[in-house]
Amino acid sequence: MTKPLVFTGNRFDRAAQFRNDENWMAEKQQDPSSRYVPMHKLKALINLPDGPSIDWRGYADVKEYIDAGATLIFLGIADFSCHFAIDVSAIENPKQPPNSDWGKFIDVRSISAQLRPGEAGALAQARSMIAWHDNHGFCAVCGQPTALKDAGYSRRCTSEACGAPHFPRTDPVAIMMVTKGDKCLLGTGHNFPKAQYSCLAGFIEPGETIEQGVRREVFEETGVKTAEVRYHSSQPWPYPSSLMIGCFAEATSDEITIDPVELADARWFTRDEIKTMLANAGTMEIPRIAPPMAIAHQLVKAWIEDDF
Ligand SMILES: [Zn+2]
Repeated sequence: MTKPLVFTGNRFDRAAQFRNDENWMAEKQQDPSSRYVPMHKLKALINLPDGPSIDWRGYADVKEYIDAGATLIFLGIADFSCHFAIDVSAIENPKQPPNSDWGKFIDVRSISAQLRPGEAGALAQARSMIAWHDNHGFCAVCGQPTALKDAGYSRRCTSEACGAPHFPRTDPVAIMMVTKGDKCLLGTGHNFPKAQYSCLAGFIEPGETIEQGVRREVFEETGVKTAEVRYHSSQPWPYPSSLMIGCFAEATSDEITIDPVELADARWFTRDEIKTMLANAGTMEIPRIAPPMAIAHQLVKAWIEDDF
């Protein structure tokens, strides 16, 4: 791969040792070198004419939101500057941001493949973190309000009797390239674009290893049995908080019985078919494989190139 897979290029030193140092954090927030990515309803402020790139802002531009108690996340340190994400969803009309020189709020999924790897990685972190805070305002133990702590890396129940801590979640998803000799097994979901196929995937369940999760999901969705499972690569997928764990699995049976709830179709493809589908990726041609920004695309490509 010439370019890291989208969302895998995060280059922040997360400097976790400073997260609960309130004086250090307050000082860095106001430091002239500090940079903020404003997020509006999970869309990121993007500078289109010069890039595209994240439209990083200074403290003065976001002070009113910080003062109003907006969700503020310390992302980490890069290029000798502290970087933060700030939730500015309080802006009523995001098409007319408070400063006329601000960029545009753009959906992270639609723009991330065009950003530099470090910036896409920053947005994966920022989007997942803010989405988690959005949905964890109340304690799962006692139902009382929670408050942001540790520069965004935890919330704590405000009830003195409870005080339960809560931490941001990452949900492991196994995504697997199932092969058998010279063919591979791909599926298409009900909401996929027409004739776009992808690797099978599913959440790892509690008490399960990655390998067990792979074998279970393949069997549940297609009835195909698999034996050896090998890890290949991973990709953060911030919708809202998945970690895609890319694997190769060797099938020991051929017959397909799809789960019609999960899949619209699944079938075996030859190498020649896959080459055509790779060439069609990112176009409207069919059949095609998932676009290059998805780890599924890279797993299929690795198989074709014998690079796994
Ligand atoms: Zn509580």
